[in-house]
Amino acid sequence: MSSSIERVGVVGGGLMGSGIAEVCARAGKDVIVVESSTAAVEAARTRLEGSLRKAESRGKIESADAVLERITVVDDLAALADRDLVVEAIVEDEKAKTELFRRLDEVVTSPDAILASNTSSIPIMKLAVATQRPSHVLGVHFFNPVPVLKLVELVPSLMTDSETTERARAFVQDDLGKNAIDCQDRAGFVVNALLIPFILSAIRMLESGFATAEDIDQGLVLGAAHPQGPLALADLIGLDTTKAVAESLYEEFKEPLYAAPPLLARMVEAGLLGRKTGRGFYTYG
Ligand code: NAD
Repeated sequence: MSSSIERVGVVGGGLMGSGIAEVCARAGKDVIVVESSTAAVEAARTRLEGSLRKAESRGKIESADAVLERITVVDDLAALADRDLVVEAIVEDEKAKTELFRRLDEVVTSPDAILASNTSSIPIMKLAVATQRPSHVLGVHFFNPVPVLKLVELVPSLMTDSETTERARAFVQDDLGKNAIDCQDRAGFVVNALLIPFILSAIRMLESGFATAEDIDQGLVLGAAHPQGPLALADLIGLDTTKAVAESLYEEFKEPLYAAPPLLARMVEAGLLGRKTGRGFYTYG
């Protein structure tokens, strides 16, 4: 099936949004990224250019300039009027996202257009019902770094029609060359629902004095062939993000395995967020 999606909009040009814009433009799509301020527009452009120049220098793409020509970054949502697909990748805040979906519904004119969210934990249904077209809203959840990781989770809500899901699948698989897996509209989808309890168990193991961080991670790397241990992975994801996803899983299922251990909460309060702050379970830089 052809996705017949040529004009893509991305709202939010941060870590994920710029990656999503990059893979869409690399696949030949015309991409408009909408950011929230002039400064954020500049930051998104710089991020995109840096990533594409790196891809060019590594021989992954022929010409960064040719890809950049297909990407426009603006601070006006009205620029998305003619888009076939809009992927929302703004901050993980339910109020901000529902307000954005309400506005996207007004701005995007084609009745066939798909409104997608890259949210990790907010129910797709809450975004769908903020629009007059819940049948055309679904979750399209990419993984970080977007240009590298092959997986996308497709998350239809109870109101999404099957044609919307199939067009999104064709876009992700045939146009972007990624692999799609399907999951229900439940907190954590497939990957985070399995990964987060695993990381939390490693933190509990460390907290109880059962083993050191280095030994826990080495155990999983050498004993289970994981590319990195769970504590190093938590540092990479960010301990604040890890805690936030755990909280949304706990909120949804009320299962102890999703409850953030006190050590994780104390580290976040202390600003020890992992790689991005230079210190988490390990020290960096
Ligand atoms: P980020 O903070 O790097 O980027 C968010 C961007 O959105 C910022 O540049 C901000 O200026 C912009 N923004 C905020 N409000 C806006 C608005 N109203 N209009 C336009 N732009 C706006 O965050 P991120 O890590 O890229 O995460 C974005 C989304 O992707 C979140 O929903 C997150 O849960 C999800 N996600 C993140 C990861 C990850 O590993 N970071 C992985 C999968 C999904």
